Amino acid sequence: MSYLKKYDLTGKVAVVTGAGRGIGLAACEALEEAGAHVVMTDLDEERVRTACAGLAARGARVEAAQLDVADRAAVERLHDDLLARHGRMDILVNNAGIALSNTPAETMTDERWLKVLDVNLNGLFWCSRTFGRSMLAAGSGSIVNIGSMSGFIVNKPQEQAHYNASKAAVHHLTKSLAAEWASRGVRVNAVAPTYIDTELNALVRDDPAMYAAWIGNTPMARLGRVDEVASAILFLACDASSLLTGSIVQVDGGYTCW
Ligand code: NDP
Repeated sequence: MSYLKKYDLTGKVAVVTGAGRGIGLAACEALEEAGAHVVMTDLDEERVRTACAGLAARGARVEAAQLDVADRAAVERLHDDLLARHGRMDILVNNAGIALSNTPAETMTDERWLKVLDVNLNGLFWCSRTFGRSMLAAGSGSIVNIGSMSGFIVNKPQEQAHYNASKAAVHHLTKSLAAEWASRGVRVNAVAPTYIDTELNALVRDDPAMYAAWIGNTPMARLGRVDEVASAILFLACDASSLLTGSIVQVDGGYTCW
């Protein structure tokens, strides 16, 4: 048996949401390096086309498409187009997510609450249901959701009820879909990252007091890097994790140990 062959994604088609930068872009690089043809999608069309051109210039098998995951009809249109052109859907990475700024729960507007749930939870479900149908029909597939340590614990001193609730729901949705689809060849897992050095965190990262609190709460005493999350995504996407489904892999430098 070759253990390294389990990481070989040659001939597979992978779709990544929110792929224009950050964790999503790193996931595309990892999946492509393992041999997959990667469809990079993002809300921001110019950003994802630029990111895609950057990878393509290095010889990567990638293509770009604009996609708002909260737009159910757009998700279905993109899926149908990709299936018609590629004939298969092997891997879906549900990475698109937003945090918005801290908001005390008692002054949370309907719009802020609904916006975060609409992208982080509803969008993830629209993509999973749509792409999951093709995977079920084929009898194989792997879906990787991006949850968060915020799905397990409430980070002090954040006021992020909308974000925390959405990520806890992502973890439980991961387990629900995994249980429903396990016997039909489709695996569903999640990664739960700690603070990763991306634009999503820019406001807090640049606040010295908040930054010190993050580091102080992390046993490894540092932020994570996007490649460290992408490595876990690759593992869950490929056959190296063939017995894993419904798992939430914590990529958090020990944050949730304390
Ligand atoms: P970034 O903000 O760097 O990247 C997210 C990308 O998703 C952006 O390009 C963003 O576009 C896009 N996006 C936003 N809304 C939508 C939408 N409706 N449809 C499609 N794409 C959209 O974030 P990260 O890379 O840091 O985060 C990626 C995932 O990891 C998220 O789910 C996040 O919650 C999760 N995560 C991140 C952590 C961190 O510390 N960074 C920790 C734990 C989890 P735009 O800029 O236009 O909004």
